[in-house]
Amino acid sequence: MKYMDEFRDPATAKKLVAEIHKLASTSLSQREPLQIMEFCGGHTHTLFKYGIESMLPDNIEMVHGPGCPVCVLPMARVDDCVAIAEQPGVIFTTFGDAMRVPGTRKSLLQAKADGCDVRMVYSPMDALAIARKNPEREVVFFALGFETTMPSTALTLLQAHREGLQNFSLFCNHITTPATMRAILTDPDLRLDGFLAPGHVSMVIGAHPYDFVTRDYHKPLVITGFEPLDILQALWMLVKQFAEGRCEVENQYARIVPEAGNVAGLKAIAEVYETREHSEFRGLGNIGDAGIQIREAYAAYDAEKKLGLPFDFAQGAVGYDPEHLKCADVLRGVMKPWECPAFAKTCNPQNPLGALMVSPEGSCAAYYAYGKLAKRKETV
Ligand code: SF4
Repeated sequence: MKYMDEFRDPATAKKLVAEIHKLASTSLSQREPLQIMEFCGGHTHTLFKYGIESMLPDNIEMVHGPGCPVCVLPMARVDDCVAIAEQPGVIFTTFGDAMRVPGTRKSLLQAKADGCDVRMVYSPMDALAIARKNPEREVVFFALGFETTMPSTALTLLQAHREGLQNFSLFCNHITTPATMRAILTDPDLRLDGFLAPGHVSMVIGAHPYDFVTRDYHKPLVITGFEPLDILQALWMLVKQFAEGRCEVENQYARIVPEAGNVAGLKAIAEVYETREHSEFRGLGNIGDAGIQIREAYAAYDAEKKLGLPFDFAQGAVGYDPEHLKCADVLRGVMKPWECPAFAKTCNPQNPLGALMVSPEGSCAAYYAYGKLAKRKETV
């Protein structure tokens, strides 16, 4: 297939749905639904946008994972961003979604309204251009996201280093996908049978970093793309593994994801970053070796070391969500968005109380955007 329409072809979709139903009726338990986690918020978005979830048999249940970069930011990390932006002389740069994530005091957008120089950019290179034009100001780029965005921030830092720029730094909040998956797999509250793995992350890391999921936890995993036929084919591949008693890492997205990943991107990541001993994630707590920090060799470009931070994550969990906001439970996949008391009442995309309502990739925003309010009404 070469064109977008072909990845959305209704006739092929119907055939795949029929195949999934056939396999599910002959090979899966009719009482215990198979629980499949789509790790990535982009997949959640596609599932709702094209109504895929409602086409699946009753004995297949999708569990929405934490794979949305802004959603896993703890409130205290947003507070750190605001504290950096409030420092005199700082220009704080970030993507649009991150500006709206609430902290305990305020969001970056509110900090901007209060007079801080917070600017929306489309890439870290835009932030570097601002640094070149403003040599008397410190320009900080908020580096966040899974492995998908790590190469671009690493390469931007290396470019700043080559140019000898003294006024550019990263506030590094990147996260690694395999360590986050391991934390999910060890969560005693969550029963999972298999994974749809993120296509964009896998484009960078390749297929092998997921080997532990099948080897150590005996859960099948299929790397998948973002079009409706990608998701349906990946679900069919996953159900087929169950039907045939196999447990393997398979790559549905082979047109984009090389087995060994992106060698140049991985090299830049290894040059600039190392894992952190302590890092706090919204809903998931402290996950060892999942957070990423800038290596000592590039400390001159590390905003944490250059500008200091009010919160010390190494001292333990800080900045938890208020009790009535259930973002943590939704992120861990143990609660559906419509079960949160704030969903579609006090929390909506115009006034998000939690990060999951901010980005279109957040599961609460996806449920809200694609009419899953009705499901909530059915249950109350
Ligand atoms: S509805 Fe709002 S407060 Fe509740 S879980 Fe979703 S984002 Fe968090």
